[in-house]
Amino acid sequence: MTLSEIDASRSYDAVVVGAGPNGLAAAVKLAQAGLSVAVFESRATVGGGVCTAELTLPGFQHDVFAAVHPLGIASPFLRTLPLAEHGLEWIHSPAPLAHPLDDGTAVMLERSVEATARNLGKDARAYKDLVDPFVKHWDDLADDTLRPLSFPSHPLLFSRFGLRAIRSASGLAETVFGGPRARALFAGLGAHSIMPLDRPGSAAIGLVMCVTGHAVGWPIVKGGSQNIAEAMAAYLRTFKGEIVTGTAIESVEKLPKARVILLDVTPRQMLQMVRGFPDGYKNKIKRYRYGPGAFKVEWALDGPIPWRAADCLRAATVHLGGTLKEIANAESGIWRDKHPERPFVFVTQQSLFDPTRAPEGKHMAGAYCHVPNGSGADMTAEIEAQVERFAPGFRDRIIERHQMPPAELERLNANCIGGDIAGGVQNLRRLLQTSLGGSPYATPVRGVFVCSSSTPPGAGVHGMCGYHAAVAALRQVS
Ligand SMILES: Cc1cc2nc3c(=O)[nH]c(=O)nc-3n(C[C@H](O)[C@H](O)[C@H](O)COP(=O)(O)OP(=O)(O)OC[C@H]3O[C@@H](n4cnc5c(N)ncnc54)[C@H](O)[C@@H]3O)c2cc1C
Repeated sequence: MTLSEIDASRSYDAVVVGAGPNGLAAAVKLAQAGLSVAVFESRATVGGGVCTAELTLPGFQHDVFAAVHPLGIASPFLRTLPLAEHGLEWIHSPAPLAHPLDDGTAVMLERSVEATARNLGKDARAYKDLVDPFVKHWDDLADDTLRPLSFPSHPLLFSRFGLRAIRSASGLAETVFGGPRARALFAGLGAHSIMPLDRPGSAAIGLVMCVTGHAVGWPIVKGGSQNIAEAMAAYLRTFKGEIVTGTAIESVEKLPKARVILLDVTPRQMLQMVRGFPDGYKNKIKRYRYGPGAFKVEWALDGPIPWRAADCLRAATVHLGGTLKEIANAESGIWRDKHPERPFVFVTQQSLFDPTRAPEGKHMAGAYCHVPNGSGADMTAEIEAQVERFAPGFRDRIIERHQMPPAELERLNANCIGGDIAGGVQNLRRLLQTSLGGSPYATPVRGVFVCSSSTPPGAGVHGMCGYHAAVAALRQVS
């Protein structure tokens, strides 16, 4: 359906622009509350950052953006939805994560804390002490962290977490751990923050990634990440929610009448779409900063990646970058507009655990590294060299490759400004969720809300930004 095909006289209680996980979560929450809802999406398919396509060759199903979903399976909202009934099937690899080192071994993040600790030599005790309390009470911690900062429901647990989370990833790893294996593992986890690892707050995401690995796992989705969005869309339709794809909204004035409008877009796009923001708010938005971009490569392979450390074949996600020092150097260089010779590389190898992703006997895998925002550099050689370093013979297995530099990511998803995959720069201020001031979801224009990953709790396929924005919108309509 296109905008012109919509009955112009029709009005809705709520209209959502953008069918990413947050837009869909907002729409579902509003529809569950009995509101009539329509979602407008510029792309031909729903999903935004959860999208699967045959990027290389027919029969090879690649996750175009997000691939691994600890936050999806952990999401306090998504886990209340009957998504399995609508086709969503999580697949867990035996271990969530492998981090190979140059000595031919891999540090493994296993589902069990005990088994992971055993792999860390003299840091076993320190590792258990760091993560155990959060793993045991993950549900409570998730409730307090996957929302805007407010008085926690579990103050003791949250303060314990906060005292560690507020530190830098490298600072925490270097004080808690004495050996290179645990330090390297935590550096790779901290790199998900897309912050320099010596910056305060970069430990927060590292801890969340680590704890979710044990508490809920890091699943991939059978058939591809797209199926998260398809399941959410199918559930929304059970409430008669309408979804209009292939329709880019340039201005909210072009939308059908609605009591509330929720925008699954980043602040820069919001400025173009909404007239009537006061100057002070416009200036705040203009100052909103975007973070580093990503350069992504997908491969069709004629066999599994030939890892030197065979343990890597037990994990859907593999972190490539060696030691803490090397990872920290690579990640901090990006903030000085440098392209690391040896980037920190996030690899996913879904077809090892999901045979639907590649033709029989073949495999697919994908990888990305961080680059300066808007970078036009081709990082294929650097990414492949990192894989080859830990998997000699890898290049010989490539049948086809598909590259996505930042400009391509932005072309495919307007929210990836300059290739930024997180909806804005990640820093302590944003982690403390004060970037847009006041309620992070309401705007000064009554009835207009923002629900994208630029709002708390930030990036990731969890739908919690959309959920909380919908709760804020419901308060206004009730
Ligand atoms: C390369 C990459 C890898 C990632 N890996 C992971 C991962 O493994 N795990 C994880 O949890 N997260 C990952 N992420 C992050 C995750 O994808 C995002 O945080 C998440 O998708 C944000 O959801 P959202 O709904 O806020 O926005 P998006 O998913 O970006 O969706 C926004 C939607 O709005 C639409 N839109 C924008 N402007 C308009 C307009 N004017 N009119 C109509 N529609 C519009 C877009 O087309 C898009 O569909 C990754 C992201 C990228 C880019």
